[in-house]
Amino acid sequence: VAAFVSSVRSALRARKRQYDLRATLEGLRVADQRKTEFLATLAHELRNPLAPLQTALTLLKRKRPGPDEAARHYDMMRRQIDHMVRLVNDLMEISRITRGRIELDMGPIDLRQVLRDAVELSRPLLDAAQHQLALRLPEGPLPLAGDSVRLTQVFSNLLNNAAKYTPAAGHVVLTAQAQDGQAVVGVQDDGIGIAPDMLDTVFDMFVQVSGASKAAQGGLGIGLTLARSLVELHGGRIVAHSAGLGQGSTFTVRLPLQAEPAVETPVDAPAA
Ligand code: ADP
Repeated sequence: VAAFVSSVRSALRARKRQYDLRATLEGLRVADQRKTEFLATLAHELRNPLAPLQTALTLLKRKRPGPDEAARHYDMMRRQIDHMVRLVNDLMEISRITRGRIELDMGPIDLRQVLRDAVELSRPLLDAAQHQLALRLPEGPLPLAGDSVRLTQVFSNLLNNAAKYTPAAGHVVLTAQAQDGQAVVGVQDDGIGIAPDMLDTVFDMFVQVSGASKAAQGGLGIGLTLARSLVELHGGRIVAHSAGLGQGSTFTVRLPLQAEPAVETPVDAPAA
């Protein structure tokens, strides 16, 4: 009986190893496919802005348009170049993170200022889509130890996504508050929403939810991967919520607050 039990056990173990191997291979196949698709998307995303830039340059040189028309061309050129700069910056950051080469420049910050800066960075994209932005910050500071440039990038990425994945003239709400020793930031939109089974997957590298809306928006599928890595490097957490497709999305970021220096209360303070 003992020999039989042991042979069944080893058969089960062998079967399990086979399954594990299969799962690993499947994981590698999916990762490889995502990388292949990513290269195609990257080529596309980098080439897209070039045609309008070339056209605008040719027009400006040949036609010598009046100041209003020239200003429109320059605005368009600035938007295209800003978009490319964002893509390349995100790419460089993700490459640093995956190689473990990222160094945070930590310092004392007030998260409210980071959020205001992120809003300024994302303003052109929000305005271009005629979205209304409500910014709800607490009266008092949200002090934490962090890399203000990287955190600005995190929240600007979330705001840019809210702008991209919300049909024109939508509503974006950015809130922040202190709760149980943490800063809790919410980026809420009333856009296309996220299906329940994708709420965690959207943070994976190179993942872009397929659909007409995505194709029109552009992007590389690394913004949320970057956001999650940077938040976790700060000891925080980021999660996505959505009631479903068409129901808007909310991204919630929690970051540990730095304890405020205790206010000295004189022992024998005279009654006021
Ligand atoms: P990108 O925006 O470049 O595609 P991200 O990593 O920022 O890459 O986002 C991954 C995917 O998550 C997006 O392609 C989109 O499908 C989905 N997503 C992100 N933010 C939102 C949002 N606010 N509303 C709906 N879907 C979103």
